[in-house]
Amino acid sequence: MIPWFTYSRPNSLKDAVKQLSVPGTRLHAGGTDLLGCLRDGVVAADKLVSISHLAELRGITRTGNGSVRIGALTTLTEIAEHPYIMEHYAALSEGASSAASPQLRNQGTIGGNISQRPRCWYFRGDFHCLRKGGEACYAVAGENQFHCIVGGQSCFIVHPSDTAPALIALEARVRITGPQGTRTLPLESFFVGPQKDFTRENVLDAGDILTEILLPAPAANHRSSYRKVRARGAWDFALAGVALSVRFSNGIVQLARIVLSGVAPVPWRVREAEKIVTGKEIDDETASQAAAACVKDAVPLAKNEYKLHLVRGVVEEALLAMKQA
Ligand SMILES: Cc1cc2nc3c(=O)[nH]c(=O)nc-3n(C[C@H](O)[C@H](O)[C@H](O)COP(=O)(O)OP(=O)(O)OC[C@H]3O[C@@H](n4cnc5c(N)ncnc54)[C@H](O)[C@@H]3O)c2cc1C
Repeated sequence: MIPWFTYSRPNSLKDAVKQLSVPGTRLHAGGTDLLGCLRDGVVAADKLVSISHLAELRGITRTGNGSVRIGALTTLTEIAEHPYIMEHYAALSEGASSAASPQLRNQGTIGGNISQRPRCWYFRGDFHCLRKGGEACYAVAGENQFHCIVGGQSCFIVHPSDTAPALIALEARVRITGPQGTRTLPLESFFVGPQKDFTRENVLDAGDILTEILLPAPAANHRSSYRKVRARGAWDFALAGVALSVRFSNGIVQLARIVLSGVAPVPWRVREAEKIVTGKEIDDETASQAAAACVKDAVPLAKNEYKLHLVRGVVEEALLAMKQA
């Protein structure tokens, strides 16, 4: 059962920030993740502050220079089905359309998808784990088949979002408004891994609201994709996945960004793999070398070694598919 809380729907961003700065409040967007967390006792709240009346946080707009602004309240369905996003930012529309189920995509927002809490069953269950202020990560010696193979340290969650890796590959920035004003940062710097702080997943502080995502204008000869491996064809989180963003010139890769999902506590960018493909044509050999680089630093837990093979396979497939596109 969800514990009692009060509920407020401010009409201005300023008021929302003010209300959310009070301890015990939590931001409510679509509620598809938050309400589950409250019901399962993962987080507590005296008061929910809904941002749903903030019309300025909705929608997808193109600016004069061709860049794109996506309001944090834009739903995953709106993003997945938007013709301009589909044409120029395919990785994002593919990431959004591969997340969750149609009902959840209709209700879940992009801001919430990026800020959702981890799906680790110890964190979500009745375990007082490290991330909840306890003393141990139960995944280390427990049921760790869905946990991370890289970037884990003390806590072995994987970041659950399918849109975040795509957005990082596409060089997205996020705008955040909070009690100290407004700041804009690369989405890549938004996420916080356990080696830095295992009690949080991102830089949001009390009162902070992620208001929008900014995508650079599409470049010529640019292609992107998101490919995800999951245990079943219905809704499911990524066991492993890859977002690619590649700029070509006469078939040669000029610039590449390769970001993994499902394998690390934050969307995991692999610069070494990017270097391997840059300046070359994508062929069987470069795809295989880049895929190998993606798992070079991985240290699997007792039950998730299979993810090494998934990563190699999905990266190789995605690179070769991009060449043929
Ligand atoms: C059954 C199920 C399957 C799922 N499968 C997938 C999947 O395969 N892939 C995937 O990527 N996701 C998956 N999800 C997650 C789903 O996509 C998210 O729950 C959804 O996108 C969250 O959006 P929301 O608007 O409902 O967020 P909420 O539930 O309202 O919020 C989620 C969290 O983000 C915070 N938050 C929300 N918006 C903002 C903002 N603008 N600024 C600051 N903080 C904010 C909230 O305070 C809360 O902590 C699944 C969820 C469920 C329940």
